[in-house]
Amino acid sequence: MKDRTRVVHPAPVEVPADNRPLIAPIYQSVKFSLDDTVQTEQMLRGQRAGFFYSRQSNPTLRQLEQLLAQLQGQEDCILTASGAGAVAVALTALCKAGDHILAFIESYGPTRHMIQKILGRYGVRHTLLPIEDRAGIERVLAETPTRLVMFESPTNPVTKIADIEYLVGQAHAHGALAVMDNTFAGFHNHGQFGIDVHIHSLTKYASGHGDVMGGAILGSRALLKSLRPDIGTLGPTLDPHAAFLLQRGMRTYFLRYDYQCASALRVAQFLSAHPKVRRVFHPGLASHPQHALAARQMKDFGTVVTFDLDGGLDYGRRFADALEFFSISASLGSAESLVMPPSLLGGGEFTDEQRRHTAIGPGTVRLSIGIEDVDDLIVDLDQALKVAFN
Ligand SMILES: *Cc1c(COP(=O)(O)O)cnc(C)c1O
Repeated sequence: MKDRTRVVHPAPVEVPADNRPLIAPIYQSVKFSLDDTVQTEQMLRGQRAGFFYSRQSNPTLRQLEQLLAQLQGQEDCILTASGAGAVAVALTALCKAGDHILAFIESYGPTRHMIQKILGRYGVRHTLLPIEDRAGIERVLAETPTRLVMFESPTNPVTKIADIEYLVGQAHAHGALAVMDNTFAGFHNHGQFGIDVHIHSLTKYASGHGDVMGGAILGSRALLKSLRPDIGTLGPTLDPHAAFLLQRGMRTYFLRYDYQCASALRVAQFLSAHPKVRRVFHPGLASHPQHALAARQMKDFGTVVTFDLDGGLDYGRRFADALEFFSISASLGSAESLVMPPSLLGGGEFTDEQRRHTAIGPGTVRLSIGIEDVDDLIVDLDQALKVAFN
């Protein structure tokens, strides 16, 4: 073997079968091979186990897929390079021209863009309703054959709680699939409702450290098998190195999530008692209009706390600028706490009527609670409120 050949074919390191790495290595390989053509043909026919091409499957991704499926109470999982990518390819693979989607005003912005603008261009129709509009939901499903109902809970930013049993029941009664973007509630919530497809942004609680993006589509083995050829062709594959980092993030998922939820409740209670705060939106508060529903259908109440500040835009701006431990940034579920002041919460594309349903007002501020000491966070919020209203 000459050196020009050797650099392409380095000798493999054989790891004995009884000698395993404690942490699964990163399979940073696009291709996998078997010893001969017959074995390879058998594998591609699904008659034996094995990997072939990393756009379809890769051992590093497989471990994370299995873990997330187990946590979410689903049979299988497909990973994607971002949460938005998971929404885009799941909806693309599930729908065809002429299909109808029932979606909600309170949905994540890029999800609405996907349904209204992109799928709309390809002839998929939609109806957008407020998530609490039961009469509307029942009317639309009765009048219009619907391929899927796509919803979120808690919603962003004012943490409305979707009645999941009701929505899934309505979808299934009318022959529609129930698709839930479950990012805000984490992987351990909402597995018991017979939802057909769960979608997650792994960028949030799986990463947990704000340094890697990913997405997941979870559902039954049969349904995901039917989507794989399309999703493999669309090609939004997660990189093995990102999958490794997400797997590492998952080790501390419950430690972070539990602590962040407890801190979020403390922050919500602190804000509720503050004279400059008109209203706090957090499902863990007894004052939340759907507290009982949240307590019934969730194991915890999430890590987002939204509130309406007295005085509107300028006060929100001054408040956010005065915070020390909360960075002005989008996203949630990270180790660090984040703040979105009213001027950055978006919603400019809504009609006045739709905007009323989003409940985003001129003083609405969204906090994402991190893993800092909660006493420090409360001291910080207190001083920033003083600065804003000075
Ligand atoms: C962040 C988010 C997404 C998109 O995820 P990315 O990983 O940022 O692409 C989708 N849905 C919800 C509810 C989100 O919060």
